[in-house]
Amino acid sequence: MPEFATVLYEKLDGNVCRITMNRPQVRNAQNRQLTYDLNDAFYAAAHDNDVKVIILAGAGPHFSAGHDLSGKDRDKHYDPFFLYHFEGRQGAEARMSAEEEIYLEMCRRWRDLPKPTIAQVHGKCIAGGLMLAWVCDIIVCSDDAQFSDPVVRMGVCGVEYFAHPWELGARMAKEFLFTGDFLSAQDAYRLGMVNHVYPREKLEEETLALARRIALMPSSALMWTKMAVNQTLECMGQRNAMNAVFNLHHIAHSHNAEITGGSPVLGGNLAGGVREYVRQRDAGFDGGEPR
Ligand code: ZN
Repeated sequence: MPEFATVLYEKLDGNVCRITMNRPQVRNAQNRQLTYDLNDAFYAAAHDNDVKVIILAGAGPHFSAGHDLSGKDRDKHYDPFFLYHFEGRQGAEARMSAEEEIYLEMCRRWRDLPKPTIAQVHGKCIAGGLMLAWVCDIIVCSDDAQFSDPVVRMGVCGVEYFAHPWELGARMAKEFLFTGDFLSAQDAYRLGMVNHVYPREKLEEETLALARRIALMPSSALMWTKMAVNQTLECMGQRNAMNAVFNLHHIAHSHNAEITGGSPVLGGNLAGGVREYVRQRDAGFDGGEPR
């Protein structure tokens, strides 16, 4: 069985593979190591002819805190096959190339895996964590799941994989972004962003049952069905829209870097570490719990 430093890889009864982010001590925050471990795990599942359905889960109390903002361990993993090479580059070129590779294109690779994927979300799913859930074909969550993208509070127009209007509809996407508040599992279900909400203690069992049911289908037809839906979204302009927003995202990063003296997010150069930064970022928003 493949082994990874920050990801657990399991085959459940042969046809279902479960990939679990395993940095619970930092709520599965995505550093570069986790990103590339996830990529390797997804590819291992894609290349295994026995695997028909892939579940993505998170270890510990929460699905994902998003991108790792701590800066720790950031450069411990380097892949020489980056398409957008950013090592040794400077300024906006380095920043945009890095985010193109690690965030946008990585998400697109996972979104287009040739096998059905199910995100199994529990607890909090924040910012970069949303990107992981959204790239999956189906999202199921526990009744205590909460979703948010607080990136506008940081001076940026949402996360790099800008699926918000596609997932929530334009009007709710705007409120979601304008406030940065949490969306409850029930509201996410009502808006069509998640397929099913289960009691927390039933989440794993129900997700596996759904995966097993899908795994009864022929793998070739599953692949073409997934391509059919994704190609429909492309015809509707999803890919071009995301490209356009990615450029705005980098205008925002560059603007912030210019006015803060180097930080691509507002307040990111505050002393006190990431915990204090998040506390100050969210101080005026009552913690942003679901209403
Ligand atoms: Zn960014």
